[in-house]
Amino acid sequence: MEITAAVARKPNAEFTIETLNLDGPRAGEVLVEIKSVGICHTDLAAREGQIPFQLPAVLGHEGAGTVLEVGEGVTKVKAGDKVGLTFNYCGQCRNCAKGDMAYCHQFMPLNYAGVRLTDGVSPCSSAEGAVSSLFFGQSSFASHALATQYNVVKLPDDADLELVGPLGCGVQTGAGSVMNSMGADEGSTLLVLGGGSVGLSAVLGGVVQSCANIIVVEPHVSRRKLALEMGATHALDPADGALADQVKAVSELGADFIFDTTGIPAVIESTFTAMAPHASLGLVGVPADPTASVNVSLFGALVAGVKVYGIIEGDAVPDEFIPRLVQLHAEGRFPFDKMITKFPFSQVNEAIEAQHKGDVVKAVLVH
Ligand SMILES: [Zn+2]
Ligand SMILES: [Zn+2]
Repeated sequence: MEITAAVARKPNAEFTIETLNLDGPRAGEVLVEIKSVGICHTDLAAREGQIPFQLPAVLGHEGAGTVLEVGEGVTKVKAGDKVGLTFNYCGQCRNCAKGDMAYCHQFMPLNYAGVRLTDGVSPCSSAEGAVSSLFFGQSSFASHALATQYNVVKLPDDADLELVGPLGCGVQTGAGSVMNSMGADEGSTLLVLGGGSVGLSAVLGGVVQSCANIIVVEPHVSRRKLALEMGATHALDPADGALADQVKAVSELGADFIFDTTGIPAVIESTFTAMAPHASLGLVGVPADPTASVNVSLFGALVAGVKVYGIIEGDAVPDEFIPRLVQLHAEGRFPFDKMITKFPFSQVNEAIEAQHKGDVVKAVLVH
């Protein structure tokens, strides 16, 4: 069928809106008419070549829409169902069977190959030839996306499809890290480094978990303000002093749960002196230099019983976690919409620019 898509043709070049051809769904696949899609840093990392993904390509991995057609064997959803799209996984391997699908043994090829693994061919093409597709099992910077029975999440009929897309990656990552991976408990002190969309989602997770102190460290004043509106109890400017001093002024023993979205080695190192005994440190920030490392006192980490977590997608079981977040939002307990700014799909480049400049926290493209 003919679809409209934002195509990444060259690194560091604007997306072009084009008409492409997309195959219909084969066994296990689900064709989704996209209503909206969030823009995540990973989309741009793929366009710029920091993540290997063959160009030209259709990116986009926070889609939401309505099922148009399902392939053979799909029973989870049917035409007309509202769905959110998330990362793809095989559903068969040992980790998928345990509910650890973010660490699926096939995670890399299923999300980054750009082709169907069954025949090695992309289901998407332009007049000039193949266009890489199935980015995160969806490529939802388009009017339509081909997903699978695993990475479609069925949503209630009253779900707001212009809003829920980011639940499939950025929001799930931030909230899930606090709620699932580290399991921050009631009365604890949560420290969030970075007040972007993932950090703010962690703040929302801290509110759901009833953390007593939710401290956000963020250099931009507008984001500190938004963090406080979204439930942070303290918003600190890193320029105001050493991290440990600032955190211990709020909570004498330090933070019980620390969540890093910065990926900056010096920032992560500084958290070890801001920790309460038996603290957890969750890492999702991607370092600019892939060979970056941090220096940690082994003795200090050992005697304090420090737990360090590398986290993908908030350790979510998407079919359970995303509907839970939709429900919490409906109850007014998870106001993630406060950080979303909508743009018409045709303004994809303007939306990226606005997100890059920090004018908006989370851009969502709407058809
Ligand atoms: Zn798997
Ligand atoms: Zn993402």
